[in-house]
Amino acid sequence: MKVLVNESILDKEAVKIDFEDRGYQFGDGVYEVINIYNGVPFTFNEHIERLYRSAQEIGMSIPYSPEKLKENLMSLLDANNVIQGGLYLQITRGTAPRTHHYDEAIESKLIAYPLPHKDVLAPQTNGVTAITEEDLRWLRCDIKSLNLLYNIMSKQKAAKAGAFETILIREEIVTEGTSSNIFIVKDGMVKTHPANNKILNGITRMKLLQIVDQHAWEYQLEPFTKSELLEADEVFLTSTTSEIMPIIKVDDVVFHDGIPGPMTQKLQSAFREAVEKDIQS
Ligand code: PMP
Repeated sequence: MKVLVNESILDKEAVKIDFEDRGYQFGDGVYEVINIYNGVPFTFNEHIERLYRSAQEIGMSIPYSPEKLKENLMSLLDANNVIQGGLYLQITRGTAPRTHHYDEAIESKLIAYPLPHKDVLAPQTNGVTAITEEDLRWLRCDIKSLNLLYNIMSKQKAAKAGAFETILIREEIVTEGTSSNIFIVKDGMVKTHPANNKILNGITRMKLLQIVDQHAWEYQLEPFTKSELLEADEVFLTSTTSEIMPIIKVDDVVFHDGIPGPMTQKLQSAFREAVEKDIQS
């Protein structure tokens, strides 16, 4: 495997990570996961823009332009012959003797490498289950930070319970999943949490909302409660790797007789069409 390290493409075996890298010691960095369809990075600009925004929000500069980064990432995809799969990239603040505060002059470190294709057709067709958990994360969930401790603790609970995702609840309000955004459908109305500091503004979420808007389907960007979630007609999640994933059961509550609902299926096909269109243009 070839890996992009700052601006160089290296063999995996040649990549060295310093143990004083602040990403390793503090989780001091930001990241992205991008889907590759037919060799084309989907919603590439949106992911790169979000990366630069996350970096800016933590006071970290990236020493090359978004255009240069995109060029380097395309060379990485070429070097690995990626047709279907993903791209993981992270930027840490860099290496320095361990102190909490940092010298603004240290050089950030980018690592990017291809992720294998994840087949999600069966769960997308049949739906998945989820559990709920209190959202005890910090209040800058809008930053795609490497600090994922509470997300992984909560996701592990889902894994142990045989569920696909844990839906996080902050003061009775459904915020998002541990690695996804959560949507409900009630009486034809699509609803999801507004983009603010309590959620990551998912690229798939934004893409789907554009599609919903284009079709003039009804939607609301409004907080909704756990009770509204459990009384919904349909529930689904969105993320880069899951795309649009129907949730057929949350805790003990089953939706739409345990099969993906009609609105979710409509959104799945509209999303698929949008992907096909984007990768051809
Ligand atoms: N929320 C969280 C906490 C996530 O980790 C992710 C996945 N990165 C998402 C939402 C979905 O974002 P996206 O659609 O950009 O993958």
